[in-house]
Amino acid sequence: MGVFELMSQHGYGGVHLRRDQASGLEAIIAVHDSRLGPALGGCRFIHYDTEQEALIDALRLARGMTYKAALAGLNHGGGKSVILRPRNRFDRTALFKAFGRFVEELRGHYITAEDSGTSIEDMEVIRSETKHVTGVAASAGGSGDPSPFTALGVRRGIEACVQFTLGKSSLEGLRVAVQGVGHVGYQLCKELHGAGAKLIVADVDTLKAERAQREFKAEVATLEEIFHAECDVFAPCALGSAINNATVGRLRCRIVAGAANNQLSDGSMGYALMQRGILYAPDYAINAGGLVNVAQEVLGYDAEKARTRTLKIYDTIFEIADRAARAMTPTHIIANKMVEERLARLR
Ligand code: NAD
Repeated sequence: MGVFELMSQHGYGGVHLRRDQASGLEAIIAVHDSRLGPALGGCRFIHYDTEQEALIDALRLARGMTYKAALAGLNHGGGKSVILRPRNRFDRTALFKAFGRFVEELRGHYITAEDSGTSIEDMEVIRSETKHVTGVAASAGGSGDPSPFTALGVRRGIEACVQFTLGKSSLEGLRVAVQGVGHVGYQLCKELHGAGAKLIVADVDTLKAERAQREFKAEVATLEEIFHAECDVFAPCALGSAINNATVGRLRCRIVAGAANNQLSDGSMGYALMQRGILYAPDYAINAGGLVNVAQEVLGYDAEKARTRTLKIYDTIFEIADRAARAMTPTHIIANKMVEERLARLR
C-alpha cells in the first residue's frame, strides 16, 4: 500500500520530516491521532534499507500507539518517530540534539520516549533541547526503566485470563512458559515466581535463561520446545510473530498472554487461537504498563499512581475476554472495537 493511501485509510494526522545537514540527522515523526491528547510514542533508531521502509514503520507504529493509549485509558494520541541510523560515522550527541530541536518545533503535539536503539542517555540529550520528552532517568525526576511496569501489567493480565478461563484467582502452582527473558521477560518471571507459578523459559541468550533457572527455579527449554511445552500460559516476551502458521498448532496451553509487540503474524492467528479454545490477551492491551508509566511522567512522575493505573490492566483484559466470549469473536477484534468505541465517543 502506498503512503498516502495508508494515511487516508487510517486517518493519520500528519507526518513531519527533518534532514539536518550539520549532524546528518534524517528523521520522521508520524502523528496518527490526537483526539485524546498529545501524541506519545517512542523514538526508534535503527538501520532502514530505504526511506520508504522507515516511513511505513513510523506510520504503522504511530497508529499502534493510538490504540495502546486509548485502551489503557490515557489521554494521549498515538505518535512515533524514527531516526534513520547513519551509515557513516556520526556524533550521537549532535544527532539527538538535532532531533530534540525537531521535537520542540512541534510544540508538544508529539512527545517522544525511548524505543529500539535509543537509551535513557539519548532522552537526556533530547531534553537539553525540548521538554517534550519522557523516559528520562529516575534520578532526574523521570520514570526510568519501563520494563518492571510492563511486567506488572502482564502479570495482572495473566491473572485476568486465568480467572476467566480456569476460574482461579491465584497463579499458585500454574505453569507458565516464558519465551524470551530479556528486560520484560526477566521482570515477568520475578512477578510470576513471587505469585507461586512454575516457570519454563527459553532465550537465545543461554546466560539469561540460566539466570532465570538460578533465581526462579525455572526449567530451561530450547527455542523450539518452548512452543509445545505443556503449560497453562504461554507468554511471548521476545520478538514479534511468535504465533504464526508454524507454531499455532503446536501450543499446549489454555492462554497466550505476554509482553511482546505484534504477537500474531496476522489477524488469522487470532481466529486460529479462538478455534483451538486458547484465550489470547491482545498484545497492546496487556503490555501497556510501560506506556502508562511514561504517560505519568508527562503529568509529573508519581510511581504509585503509575502502579495503580497499571493494575487496571486486569479489568481491561477481563472485559475483552468476556466480550469476546459473548460475541464469539477473537479477542484482538474486540480490543480494536473497544478503542474505536472510545474514540467515537469523542466525536
Ligand atoms: P529485550 O531485547 O530485553 O528482550 C528480548 C529477549 O528475547 C532477549 O533476551 C532475546 O535474547 C530474546 N529472544 C530473541 N529471540 C528469541 C527467540 N526466538 N526465542 C527466545 N528468546 C528470544 O526486549 P524487552 O524490552 O524485554 O522487550 C521484549 C518484547 O516486549 C518486545 O517485543 C518489546 O517490543 C515488547 N515490549 C517491551 C516493553 C518494555 O517495557 N521493555 C513494553 C512493551 C512491549
